[in-house]
Amino acid sequence: MQLKQLPEEFKQALPILTTITAAGFEAYFVGGSVRDTILNKPIHDVDIASSAYPAEVKNLFKKTVDTGIQHGTVMILDHGHGYEVTTFRTESGYQDYRRPDQVTFVRSLAEDLMRRDFTINALAMNAKGVVTDLFGGLTDLNDHVIKAVGDPAARFHEDALRMMRAVRFSSQLNFQIEAETKQAIASQAELLTKIAMERIHEEFVKLMMGQAASQGVEQLISTKLYQYLPGLNERVSELRPLADQKFELANENQVWSFLAMTLGISASQVSDWLKKWKTANKIVKDVTEMVQLLTVIKSQTVSNWDLYVAGRQNVLDALAVSRWLNMPYRPDLLQHYDQLVITQKKQLTISGKELMQNQIVTAGPVLGQVLSYLEQQVVAGDLANEPDLLVLAAKNYVQEISK
Ligand code: ATP
Ligand code: MG
Repeated sequence: MQLKQLPEEFKQALPILTTITAAGFEAYFVGGSVRDTILNKPIHDVDIASSAYPAEVKNLFKKTVDTGIQHGTVMILDHGHGYEVTTFRTESGYQDYRRPDQVTFVRSLAEDLMRRDFTINALAMNAKGVVTDLFGGLTDLNDHVIKAVGDPAARFHEDALRMMRAVRFSSQLNFQIEAETKQAIASQAELLTKIAMERIHEEFVKLMMGQAASQGVEQLISTKLYQYLPGLNERVSELRPLADQKFELANENQVWSFLAMTLGISASQVSDWLKKWKTANKIVKDVTEMVQLLTVIKSQTVSNWDLYVAGRQNVLDALAVSRWLNMPYRPDLLQHYDQLVITQKKQLTISGKELMQNQIVTAGPVLGQVLSYLEQQVVAGDLANEPDLLVLAAKNYVQEISK
């Protein structure tokens, strides 16, 4: 196969390839960018593989960064772009089911393609657009099939994360997992316990955001991979309906809040749950606020305070998620949010410093209490955000609590 028209991203990177080949080495575009181009999908990052060793690559370019030099990866900086060039390599060892004990640089493209996970990811393309396909990847792309390169059981034994990747690609591309590959996942799902949760997390979130996410969920269940995913394992009867239900999620916060609502994980349980997934603190906080808001939307009257605490982006994301949950759709809540008098505490027309200067309160815990009170009153619309009125309200409040 030869691609006649290369996407702009490849054209821009062509000088990198030609510089390497002019020096007598081989160089190819590899991995996801080749796959996605043939599928007519937008590409994220252009990865390059080469027979040149890292030191040889570095000699050919002015600006390089050793991003992963021990694995053979050098980043080449070119007109504000960074291109990762990785030396052809084989991997061996895998004694812990996750990373190779040893990588060996080789001069042969074939050996490099052999270590790759799936046939559709084991394609290489040269500067002229000629595709090298040693494992039937083009046929599998055409047939919409995810198939391991080589013996699937052995490949998942080498690196158990590949099992999650298979389901992730199936969801993103709306492809089927080839029977033997799927069988190998089902019989070895337990190997997932060997993999760091951060890596599983990354694949799982991509899976849930895929165009065929419900198919992804179905495969997590049928392969038993779900048994090693925190929160899902304990709630398979709540999870199962998702396999037959359409949902479209646009970011990680939407993924987790949708799942929490579906699985019956409450706002107060979100933090413990997401920590098991090694989720970043900011995401834990946002998801907690979104689940809180969705819970209120479901069963109570939404107050100004509920919206204020969530913040605009979380309100937007919660609304997006609510479309896929069996609950009222309330786009009016965004207008409601936009009419809040303040959206942040610092927008109060009086500060803690001024309250002290006016000798209404001295520094200490009461000051925080007074400010929180003013914040709640202003957000609720019970008190206008005007300095004189805030001072008066603060005075009355201090009197009240010191009785
Ligand atoms: P994406 O569009 O999500 O970036 P990708 O196919 O580029 O998809 P990456 O994780 O960026 O996926 O990996 C780049 C390439 O490296 C893959 O296409 C595959 O050839 C190879 N690869 C990545 N992870 C593994 C793995 N665990 N085992 C074998 N090969 C892998
Ligand atoms: Mg990639």
